[in-house]
Amino acid sequence: MDIEELAGKLAAGDRRALARAITLVESRRPDHRETATALLQRLAQQGRQALRLGLSGTPGVGKSTFIESFGMMLTGQGLRVAVLAVDPSSARSGGSILGDKTRMERLSRDPGAFIRPSPSQSQLGGVARRTREAVALCEAAGFDVVLIETVGVGQSETMVAQLSDLFLLLLAPAGGDELQGVKRGIMEMADLILVNKADGDLKPAAMRTCADYAGALRLLRRRPQDPEGFPKAMCVSALEEAGLEAAWNEMRALADWRREAGVFAAVRAQQARFWFAEEVRQGLLAALETGAAKLRMEALAGQVAEGRMTPALAAREMLALLGAEAGQGALP
Ligand code: GDP
Repeated sequence: MDIEELAGKLAAGDRRALARAITLVESRRPDHRETATALLQRLAQQGRQALRLGLSGTPGVGKSTFIESFGMMLTGQGLRVAVLAVDPSSARSGGSILGDKTRMERLSRDPGAFIRPSPSQSQLGGVARRTREAVALCEAAGFDVVLIETVGVGQSETMVAQLSDLFLLLLAPAGGDELQGVKRGIMEMADLILVNKADGDLKPAAMRTCADYAGALRLLRRRPQDPEGFPKAMCVSALEEAGLEAAWNEMRALADWRREAGVFAAVRAQQARFWFAEEVRQGLLAALETGAAKLRMEALAGQVAEGRMTPALAAREMLALLGAEAGQGALP
């Protein structure tokens, strides 16, 4: 595959080239990995940027409906929108909650939009890398907004937050007046809580839920770099396309503020560091599973099992073999 040709087509916004490039970064074949790495390094120098929006919500809250309405609104404004999904359930069961082809039918036909379902890879680490690289490819292809959607299973929310400039949490109206057991950690990640289905009979409940979350958000420590009033809770109706414009205005206001304050770039730099360290960790783990290292692991494990070596001593020997200094590390 010719990297220059692919990079050229991507830069021209060719969607088929984008789809091919994402397939390339999803591949685990070593020669594909090498081409993908070279392609991404080549594209990184272009410096094109999109607004990266992370979106999380449990199944049924209306993510697909929201993305379709919101995405159509953005393309209606002349913006190009890419949608990527991170679905850990697809890795476990082989079936994806987010991968359903019939989702977002209108948006998928929109020439201003590009939708890519979650890959079914065996570990979240692989999905994380693929998604991060797919975001970079969408940016190189000139997309203005990249939406990264997740169902919020396991660590996927943290991962999506580390890939996003803004993190949106989509909720449904609560039945009673209690908060819906949303974990504190997830609330803390959210820049904007959107209470969906604020229409028809559900409207009063949605407004109550929204007020509850607004109250809960005020109790959280505000990020010192953000303007007054953030994080914010708002009502929307994806079905009736209500409140979407207002939500988009808030997102832009927050993104603009962060850009001017230098926070936007600082967060991306911190995220790049995070992913570098993560990639090293994943690489080390992968190294343990292959070749001579794997055999040595097994041999040492046998010695430990037989009581001939302590786990600490065996680990130290293994780490020394990998060239890691951690064996001499600060363990008590
Ligand atoms: P997802 O699983 O989070 O992707 O949720 P879907 O988008 O598939 O929506 C789940 C259900 O909620 C569907 O029956 C939608 O029609 C419905 N739904 C989504 N958004 C709204 C909304 O704004 N108002 C109402 N009343 N129903 C909605």
